[in-house]
Amino acid sequence: MTDCLFCKIIRGELPSRKVYEDEDVVAFWDIAPLAPVHVLTIPKKHIQSAMELGDEDGELLAKLHHGIREVARATGIAESGFRIISNVGFDGQQTVPHLHFHVIGGRELDWNA
Ligand code: AMP
Ligand code: ZN
Repeated sequence: MTDCLFCKIIRGELPSRKVYEDEDVVAFWDIAPLAPVHVLTIPKKHIQSAMELGDEDGELLAKLHHGIREVARATGIAESGFRIISNVGFDGQQTVPHLHFHVIGGRELDWNA
């Protein structure tokens, strides 16, 4: 058992507003949204960041991007567009050490978010 924040959300020990879930992937609304749509798409497997992905995770990455497309459709931003961001490490300002893809949209974004 890990005390990782997102692993706790996956196990249902912390609440979340889920947008999408399948066997390997879960997506839920960010608690501090930067835009009208801000959803985090994460693997159920604990992987610290994109730097910890291995060759064996290719299928999982494809599934994560499938989840992202489902999130875009469910939140109504598939046509208008959106941004996918995965922060890595200190300089990337990653605050939760469990791989996640921010899916941000619902308004025209500037490059700073
Ligand atoms: P990052 O800074 O890239 O590691 O992103 C972590 C994100 O997780 C931030 O956008 C936070 O607002 C978000 N976050 C932190 N705690 C929660 C939570 N309990 N439920 C949903 N989102 C969270
Ligand atoms: Zn975790």
